[in-house]
Amino acid sequence: MSSARVIRLIRRRLTRAVDVGGIVVGGDAPIVVQSMTNTDTADVSRTAAQCAELARAGSELVRITVNTPEAAAAVPAIRARLDELGVSVPLIGDFHFNGHRLLSEFPDCAATLAKYRINPGNVGRGKKHDEQFAQMIEVACKYEKPIRIGVNWGSLDPDIMTRLMDENARRPQPRDTAIIMREAMVASALESAAKAEAYGLPGDRIILSCKVSGVQDLIAVYRELSRRANYPLHLGLTEAGIGSKGIVASTAAMAVLLQEGIGDTIRVSLTPEPGGARTQEVVVAQEMLQTMGLRAFTPMVTACPGCGRTTSTFFQDLALTVQNHVRECMPRWREMFEGVENMTLAVMGCVVNGPGESKHANIGISLPGNGEAPAAPVFEDGVKTVTLRGENIAAEFVAIVDRYVARTYPKKHQATS
Ligand code: SF4
Repeated sequence: MSSARVIRLIRRRLTRAVDVGGIVVGGDAPIVVQSMTNTDTADVSRTAAQCAELARAGSELVRITVNTPEAAAAVPAIRARLDELGVSVPLIGDFHFNGHRLLSEFPDCAATLAKYRINPGNVGRGKKHDEQFAQMIEVACKYEKPIRIGVNWGSLDPDIMTRLMDENARRPQPRDTAIIMREAMVASALESAAKAEAYGLPGDRIILSCKVSGVQDLIAVYRELSRRANYPLHLGLTEAGIGSKGIVASTAAMAVLLQEGIGDTIRVSLTPEPGGARTQEVVVAQEMLQTMGLRAFTPMVTACPGCGRTTSTFFQDLALTVQNHVRECMPRWREMFEGVENMTLAVMGCVVNGPGESKHANIGISLPGNGEAPAAPVFEDGVKTVTLRGENIAAEFVAIVDRYVARTYPKKHQATS
């Protein structure tokens, strides 16, 4: 089934559209990929460098923590450094505990940020909660900024949880605590949104999220949130974990919701492996959306896993070479060629599925397996165009890919003329 066909089958639930520094979240806009830095925000140089790195990897919004006066004071300088670098990615400020003070005392920070993330569980308790929340909304109104009401079950508003637990205890048959906790998260998000609107923030400047670390909890909470409100939803599994566990858990949870049309922006919260790139979470988010046929970011390389029919790892090396080549070329190709991100490639290990899979791709190669003649047919748009042999198959195939791109995708200035 083609990607276009899949896109038609998934109908997004209709939400309001929120403008975040020129990037639209919700409505009929494409699902937005975002990420978050892990540098000390007060360190302007390192934070700006990581924002730029994330943006260049494809993060369309970047969140930075704003936790101290030094961090708040650094925000305008981070923006200025990014502008110097030609990186226009909108910056989102992540506020907890002291956001009301920082936003009020650092007006340049408040004016620079494209959105404020407010965690209603970390705004204070009782009367103070409402006053401090109102103070942040007042700043958002003053600078015409959108907010995300970002509930997290690690910091769930204790007043709401206590209220719902008390109500539950009075029921003839009290419900399970896990159900009450899910309801408390949804209630915290919806009640905070209602308060923000009552304090004067327009509804089309509010995004909601309710992050948990369990897959089934996330699916249940977002289904309920989606049923009860039409604010755009920021999806993400919090504390997803490290390596394959984090990737699998995030994908398992978000794919179910995205398939149901729920979710307007996503973040994959991966713990980087020691020495690993922070940008991995951006790549995973893009690949999740692209493999589901929801967006296209970069050409996809299909490769078989290999088996006893393959006598060497040559085809694995070739798949990696092709994937790396495509990733390296993509920034330039994206500027030059219309629609190149939709290209599909196949690198296959033997005759069993090789020719068939290669014919389904825009361009594919079927390498010789165990006992086959040492020849690698290449298919372009379903037609065998050449058979490669000898020592230079990898270089020759990459050159064929380059020629295919130049020949197939219209040059951008031609496409728009
Ligand atoms: S295409 Fe061939 S080499 Fe690859 S997994 Fe299938 S049978 Fe094995």
